[in-house]
Amino acid sequence: MSTTPSPAPSPTAGVLRAFASAFGGTPDGVWQAPGRVNLIGEHTDYNEGFALPFAIDLAARVAVRVRPDRTVRLVSTHGGGVVELGLDALTRESAVGWSVYPAGVVWALQGRGIAVPGFDLALDSSVPAGSGLSSSHAIECAVATALTELAGAGLGAEDLVLLTQQAENGFVGAPTGILDQSASLRGAAGHAVFLDCRDQSIELIPFDASAAGLTVLVIDTKVAHSHSDGGYASRRAACELGAEVLGVDALRDVDTAGLAEAQGLLDPVTFRRVRHIVTEDERVLQTVEVLRSAGPAAIGPLLDASHASMRDDFEISCPELDLAVETARAAGAVGARMTGGGFGGSAIALVPAEAAAAVGDAVTAAFSRAGYRAPDLFSVSPAEGARRVL
Ligand code: ADP
Ligand code: MG
Repeated sequence: MSTTPSPAPSPTAGVLRAFASAFGGTPDGVWQAPGRVNLIGEHTDYNEGFALPFAIDLAARVAVRVRPDRTVRLVSTHGGGVVELGLDALTRESAVGWSVYPAGVVWALQGRGIAVPGFDLALDSSVPAGSGLSSSHAIECAVATALTELAGAGLGAEDLVLLTQQAENGFVGAPTGILDQSASLRGAAGHAVFLDCRDQSIELIPFDASAAGLTVLVIDTKVAHSHSDGGYASRRAACELGAEVLGVDALRDVDTAGLAEAQGLLDPVTFRRVRHIVTEDERVLQTVEVLRSAGPAAIGPLLDASHASMRDDFEISCPELDLAVETARAAGAVGARMTGGGFGGSAIALVPAEAAAAVGDAVTAAFSRAGYRAPDLFSVSPAEGARRVL
């Protein structure tokens, strides 16, 4: 007797269902954009330095249908009902909840003189929200990819990086750089995105952890972070102050040899902020070299050093992230660090595939002993960037 295997559920089924139930019928298309993990290079982006993120195999999908009027309707499978906005009166105040992300993209397109039509949009995202995997940029990048095609704007991935940054900075109100959207828009399967934030150029660096017998384990501490509030802005301000006192355009222009002189010119806190950026840039360059020459298994010490720098010099870690990193390492990870903007969110651990379960168990047990909320644990791998999927 033969059995017919049931087909794998289509990745677009959820968003199509949500679209049909909110708006009826079918969309003009479905576009998706992934979340990202930053392998190394934290807070270097707005200092015109280097970063090495990769797009992950979790993505925001948007189903979109153009409307004949000036109305935008938005719905998410995460709930909250349908949000309605008028295209001619887009203000930060009119955009409630998550609608600020699509509204910001529309606002940025309009700011370039691109005529955005009214549309209905359903969102279904597998990127956990608020975990430091950039669920918000995944939404912005998916929406930007969809709308630029539907509006016939002819913008490429590089343009969309800057467009979504404008949406974040000018509309959402978060002074973020270009790291997240560069990974989401320009990532590729089996690769990390080596990003030069000064000229926005990228180079895809082979990063095939699974071929090296490794897994990238994400440890979501569930500690809430928000980039719109003070911590991120104050770190950015410290970097700007450091660059000004040192007489450079951006901290990218200070090298490790220049740190000794910087110490005499800066107050102790600003010096430590500067030291993180300067050494982190150097670690990104070394990671790229090590990936090329020796492969993923050899980058562990660089991940560890990056975490120490964020904990001690940039002071953006938290006890939960530190515990996740220390426990993962003790249980067999080759390296671990917090990832993302900090003050919560997720850590990553590069672990031998056969040790992944034991590392996860050890972290869960350590969190329980410390009285912390149970973390979420899952593996991610480098995936393709934003694109149309239907
Ligand atoms: P991160 O980008 O690291 O996940 P943020 O705080 O920048 O964290 O963004 C999280 C926000 O993104 C949520 O508060 C919510 O507004 C929005 N968001 C993410 N995923 C969804 C979703 N599937 N549906 C609705 N809103 C979402
Ligand atoms: Mg975000």
